Amino acid sequence: MGFVFTDARLIDGIADSPREHVDVVVGDDGRIASVAPHDARRWGAERAGADATDDLTVIPAGGHSLLPGFVDVHVHYTIDARLETNNGIRDALHQDPAVAAFIGAGNARRALHAGVTTARSAGAAHSRDIALRDAINAGFVEGPHLSAAGGAITITGGHGWEFGHEADGPHEMVKLTRALARDGADHFKIVSSEAAQITSAVAGAVEMTIDEIKAVVDEAQRLHRTVMSHAQPSAAVIASARGGVNSIEHAFLADRSALEVVREHGTVLTPTLTVTDVWSNIPGVGQDIIDNQKRLSVSHRRSCEAAVSLGIPLAAGTDCGVRGVTSDMLWREIWNLHDHGLSAMDAIKAGTIGGARLLKIDGQVGTIQAGKRADILMVRGDPLADLKRLSNLSLVMKAGAVVRRSA
Ligand SMILES: [Zn+2]
Repeated sequence: MGFVFTDARLIDGIADSPREHVDVVVGDDGRIASVAPHDARRWGAERAGADATDDLTVIPAGGHSLLPGFVDVHVHYTIDARLETNNGIRDALHQDPAVAAFIGAGNARRALHAGVTTARSAGAAHSRDIALRDAINAGFVEGPHLSAAGGAITITGGHGWEFGHEADGPHEMVKLTRALARDGADHFKIVSSEAAQITSAVAGAVEMTIDEIKAVVDEAQRLHRTVMSHAQPSAAVIASARGGVNSIEHAFLADRSALEVVREHGTVLTPTLTVTDVWSNIPGVGQDIIDNQKRLSVSHRRSCEAAVSLGIPLAAGTDCGVRGVTSDMLWREIWNLHDHGLSAMDAIKAGTIGGARLLKIDGQVGTIQAGKRADILMVRGDPLADLKRLSNLSLVMKAGAVVRRSA
């Protein structure tokens, strides 16, 4: 049994403006069968419900917009991000495995119900995102299609070692990359600098050499996998772009000349603006963190606005798992991208087709087109007029199955 959304406004992930009065048919194979101008005679409002002729369930979508399912390209689902319970990433390392599995399941479900139908993990302690991916694929757990990194690749004692695996020098990097692929990683996450986010004592210094970065990238290419690089200061951003990574994460401290190198190499940027957004007003931290955060917010805004003005391709990633950043905040990253200079339409594209391109799965997801997987969101009214509408979806469909529908 398939579905037909009737008389919708369509934001298809490709066009620069929405199409009005469109019918979208979803086949029982979980794929989009057709996208066509609204046929009022065939799909009148009175036909809502099962249609005997075509065996399709009619979903009246008049006054609503359809858009592709969200792609969140930076998630840490196995970390409990709630303000009350998150005590930093070291917790993830020592977390009881069963508890970590439940946290991952809860976060994956919360993300899916908020419209995230595809996600890319940015590292999990003990590579637990691999088991989470398999549990979602097996139907044990509700969640987005998840691309797993396994643990992040860090230098010994570098940022994120608690949710990663340590290696030093190109030789060890190659060996670790191979081991992660053997154990089921879909892509690789490297940590090329400190995280200036954490305390005022951490400046965001470079951690990986360009030779180490290249060692991972070369091996990843041999294995037909992509590489994402946590990089905050200009030097790490430049080394990551020159080293050939597919995306740079954060770039909180990068200046315009570093971003010019990013553009030159065609590297995607995932700014994770929601982190500084949430942390600009986070309760229960000391004055040093508040001051540090104010400084970071200024340089992060400058960095992202420069990237927008340079036309660097952006993808939306929340970095959920960071304290206070929960897995249902992709809509907020889209809103933030718009606040930093992208048009509302381009911000939605960054959260859909932009992420799909980065994951090299844009042939399957990221747009609403015949033949694509039916990952579809429905929202009342026009989200282009107010992106905050994306926080309140009327319907979430993943691979042709209705996950959630509000009355
Ligand atoms: Zn992260």
